[in-house]
Amino acid sequence: MKHTLRFRAYLSDDVASEAWRHINILRQIRNHAVRDYYGSDYNDTPSAYDQHGTLKDWTDQWPTFAEPSQHAAQQAITQIHSDLETLEKRRDEGYNCGRLQWQGAGEFRSVSYNQSSRFNVDHNTGDDRFARLRLEKIGWFNIRAERDVPPADDIDEVILKKETTGEWYVSLVTTVEDTPEKPPLSEIDPEDCVGVDLGITSYIHTSDNLSVDTLDLSDEYDRYAREQRKLTRKEQGSANWKKQRQKVAQAKRKIKRKVRDYQHKLTTWLVTEYDVVAVEDLDVKPMLEGSQSAKNKQDAAWSRFLELLEYKADLHGTHVVDVEPAGTTKECAVCGVETAKPIWVREHSCPACGHTDDRDLNAAKNILYRGLKQLGAGRSESTPVQTALPTLTPHREEVGAKRVVEAGSPEA
Ligand SMILES: [Zn+2]
Repeated sequence: MKHTLRFRAYLSDDVASEAWRHINILRQIRNHAVRDYYGSDYNDTPSAYDQHGTLKDWTDQWPTFAEPSQHAAQQAITQIHSDLETLEKRRDEGYNCGRLQWQGAGEFRSVSYNQSSRFNVDHNTGDDRFARLRLEKIGWFNIRAERDVPPADDIDEVILKKETTGEWYVSLVTTVEDTPEKPPLSEIDPEDCVGVDLGITSYIHTSDNLSVDTLDLSDEYDRYAREQRKLTRKEQGSANWKKQRQKVAQAKRKIKRKVRDYQHKLTTWLVTEYDVVAVEDLDVKPMLEGSQSAKNKQDAAWSRFLELLEYKADLHGTHVVDVEPAGTTKECAVCGVETAKPIWVREHSCPACGHTDDRDLNAAKNILYRGLKQLGAGRSESTPVQTALPTLTPHREEVGAKRVVEAGSPEA
């Protein structure tokens, strides 16, 4: 699997201005390729390969296009085609999405190389806190080696990016070979399985009845709003305005970093604690419930959380199973009868069987139940998941991970 390591990069003034100049030219090449793509006949749109070929004509016509690494230029063109594919996929999924936009100065901030002949890594800087990296046509610069910097041969792709804060970062993409195998489904102990409800009052609620509070970011958001207000009072384009704009970006970064830390901790805990993590499939969820703008931000945080969870699950050998989200809150985890409840009703109380539970716990149990069922489907009768399930079906109160064992054991 692919693994991305991010490092802070320190470019000398000369190298930084050269890199930024190249990025700006790459942006123009990218815009040009987008225009070329949309300007061509509907039935004869150019592929990435076609446009790599046309690049030569463009550089003849506009010599500045030849100044950055032509490999990097091809990469920028390839990126458009990958973005077009993503748009196409989203459209197929029923989303309303527009076209690729022309990007103005500052909107395109990175350069990428994916051939090892285009970059070098030097570990012998005499200071083990730093390594040096060379990018074709840009030059050498330091990166802070907070963790081991892989040798150039092990790097699949290098992305140099200038953040809006003005800081430079390098992402090194490598392939991780020896990730642990996911345990075979037949060997999974149902006790090591968990259902996770992405809640409204708590960030997550698990089928083991653990709830994790939402991260309190009110101070950080206040700070961000304050810095933004200060920015509006400065004269646009002035030195103070530019300084203030960096403060705004810093405040925003701080929020991002805190959320990321929090998500890292939560996902690491889940994949180390459990062998199976069942979650709701959020690709379906927003479409079912209608994405109101207030909810979009939360959805975005959840998508990142789930992305990180899947990524860590691959690193740690844990199964992540996405289940159908419809009705997980309505359904009774004991008898399966559905009861509609408004969002402010925090307790699940079943009119059919009398079972009561916390609303999110009931949902988490349903998610785990669906996840186990989904994983167990088509497996041999002897798998614990399968042996647990037939017992579970009539007695759905045994859905909690710990109870699955009880239900599947001879005493149950
Ligand atoms: Zn019930």
